[in-house]
Amino acid sequence: MKIDADRLLSDLHRLREFGKEGSGVVRPAFSGPDIAAREWLAEKMREAELEPNFDPAGNLFGLPSVDEPCLLMGSHSDSQPEGGWLDGAYGVIAALEVSRAARGKVPVAVVSFQDEEGRFGALTGSNVWSGGIKLETADKLTALSGETFAEARARMVHLVRDDFVEAERFSGFIEAHIEQGPWLDKAGEAVAVVESIVGVGRMQVTYQGEQNHAGTTPMIYRRDAFQGLAEFNQRLNAALVPVVTESTVWTIGHVEISPGAPSIVPGRAVFSVQWRDSDPERLELMAKIVVETAEAVAAERGLVCTLEPGIPVAPRQFDERLCTALATAAERKAPKRWRRMTSGAMHDATNVARVMPSAMLFVPSIAGISHSFEEDTAEADLVTGAEVLLEAVGQIGLN
Ligand SMILES: [Zn+2]
Repeated sequence: MKIDADRLLSDLHRLREFGKEGSGVVRPAFSGPDIAAREWLAEKMREAELEPNFDPAGNLFGLPSVDEPCLLMGSHSDSQPEGGWLDGAYGVIAALEVSRAARGKVPVAVVSFQDEEGRFGALTGSNVWSGGIKLETADKLTALSGETFAEARARMVHLVRDDFVEAERFSGFIEAHIEQGPWLDKAGEAVAVVESIVGVGRMQVTYQGEQNHAGTTPMIYRRDAFQGLAEFNQRLNAALVPVVTESTVWTIGHVEISPGAPSIVPGRAVFSVQWRDSDPERLELMAKIVVETAEAVAAERGLVCTLEPGIPVAPRQFDERLCTALATAAERKAPKRWRRMTSGAMHDATNVARVMPSAMLFVPSIAGISHSFEEDTAEADLVTGAEVLLEAVGQIGLN
């Protein structure tokens, strides 16, 4: 079994033509270019002896004719409003190439999920398919344009022949994707075996102080909500250092200062705190530190503190058997140029892992850039990634 590097790269470049904009793509879910790209993909599947199957959510499966459950591989072919040419597309075309290369030996089904980039929800196609959300519920999701998911998917209805493909047809799922972060590129490594996807903790903090005149209120009498927020940020950074790893992240991404005028001591600050890690215990410990720090700063500064926890997302651990197959393949195809890592971004595999053993493989993103027209990966790494996938498929399928 052998990857045809030219065929892999030329298909990737062909897919890039749909919605091409400069060096990137504009191919949001259910747009003209997205649907055209899916019809082209269906044709490529047919050529590879895979039966194309569009489901009601707009997901496209390419199914080999086998009686036993087979491996499923793929990702998504929709893009961000300003997207890179490889985000999602790489995983779909790599899966197609692996399926072609393994044909006759190991059957591999291919999928391109719909609306991974969240025009409507988040990872909508794979979420509906894996039972995370009902189609009727998804139908009410609304894009910024005002269009609902129901209206959008109606545009693909002529392509839908059957109902949803049953998860029981598959024995496991492997998603290849660009890293969208800096680690592999910085280390000069070719691939990463993704063992888990981070969980997310969220908190909204409100500091209520006292709004007053910025000229006449002495510093010692102020109850300045912004000063509380600023101190909270510094104290939180210091308090988290002993408990985090280099891949733990936390962000104060949304801040509202009221009333927001240069000559008024701010009486109120409302801000978000979000933290991500793959270890559920660390996520809980971080939550505790966020709460303690917020309350301590408020007490010292005479502020009233209100905490509203957001709905947390649990970390997703991938299947050890599939990860081991990918790791063995990585060591064979890229000796000493690979690592195991956690994904800080959500992917379709997060949803698919609900219904079958799943794992992911990353290839590097040059300078760690993604969700941008500048997004790119060295051709050699794109090819190595596919070779690692095929090697792993050989191990899984022939054992
Ligand atoms: Zn993606």
